[in-house]
Amino acid sequence: MMNCDADKVIYMDNNATTRVAPEVVDAMMPFLTECYGNPSSMHNFGGQVGSAVQKARGQVAELIGAEPTEITFTSCGTESDSTAILSALQAFPEKRHIITTRVEHPAIKHLCENLDRLTGHKHRVTRLQVESDGTLDLASYEEALAEDTAIVSVMWANNETGVIFPVEKMATMAKERGILFHTDAVQAVGKIPINLKDLDIDFLSISGHKLHAAKGVGVLYVKRGTPFVPFLAGGHQEGGRRGGTENVASIVGLGKACELAGKMMEEENTRVRALRDRLEEGLLATVPKSMLNGHKTDRLPNTTNISFEFVEGEAILLHMNMYNICASSGSACTSGSLEPSHVLRAMGVPFTAAHGSIRYSLSVYNTEAEVDFVLEKMPPIIAELRELSPFWEAE
Ligand SMILES: *Cc1c(COP(=O)(O)O)cnc(C)c1O
Repeated sequence: MMNCDADKVIYMDNNATTRVAPEVVDAMMPFLTECYGNPSSMHNFGGQVGSAVQKARGQVAELIGAEPTEITFTSCGTESDSTAILSALQAFPEKRHIITTRVEHPAIKHLCENLDRLTGHKHRVTRLQVESDGTLDLASYEEALAEDTAIVSVMWANNETGVIFPVEKMATMAKERGILFHTDAVQAVGKIPINLKDLDIDFLSISGHKLHAAKGVGVLYVKRGTPFVPFLAGGHQEGGRRGGTENVASIVGLGKACELAGKMMEEENTRVRALRDRLEEGLLATVPKSMLNGHKTDRLPNTTNISFEFVEGEAILLHMNMYNICASSGSACTSGSLEPSHVLRAMGVPFTAAHGSIRYSLSVYNTEAEVDFVLEKMPPIIAELRELSPFWEAE
């Protein structure tokens, strides 16, 4: 069997993906082995599996304050995002305007860039600007809401900085004008309390692997009464909202993960938040020319994004990798050129800082000893890299 030495790793990359909780694995196992019936079958052998899917639907609904009938299982967060936007555009074919932000996940960003090709229509996309701390400007949002706006899509929390957007208020502003509202809540669900019951949010996306369930399963919440056009036509699965035989094991696991997330929310916002703060304050205090990217308080409890000026993020990651510390950088190596992230660019983070940004994203599995280990290793890593940097000397 493949061995990834997970016990040797200091994993601080939970916004990229999370460890599947052992309880989730246990919940999934029967459906990968003996309980292999098709949930749509008439016989009891399949019917039991159908009941397990229904139970999971209830567990997801419970976590976000929804009705079970408002939960549709999908293959991932990306599918949920696409389904919501394309549904709105098909429900209102005469409306050709979309409002989103400049800091969305590629699942929304690239969808919006490709809309004309996907729908065969011409679309107008307004991408809301963010402030230097990553927060949104609500005045420009109000101005952007138009007669022909079909849907607004604004993430609940940003995956790179953790900054939280006021989606409750934004959804109400959209609803007052008869405009549908979608939120990509992939990073928010399980980290901050969400109760959709009294909110004006029409669509909400969840991804299993960001909250300690398996990869390849997601959820689209569709508010009761919201017009809906399926993305995947096919069988009558998911009440006709999404064709395709259910990924039963992963769905059952996601249900369990949502139940666990409800119980862990308190710890996430106390112990994990304290670990994140310890890490952040320690790094900012011990590494010269380091700075926080993103609002200090309107932020997820597990995320910190720090720029180390005059060094390359990818070089930092390689050095961290030697100590088995896993995190992400705000620059992605695309065809040899290092492009700083669109999120940091939208925030106006200076070039020399955007390049050296590292995102640490923690989870309930992290310990204080791990944070202290990272705090011990980071200052010499940055100092060593700066010795080699032609830009650093000039300082
Ligand atoms: C990870 C992520 C997604 C994509 O989810 P997948 O299940 O990997 O498709 C979408 N939005 C945000 C904010 C994410 O962090």
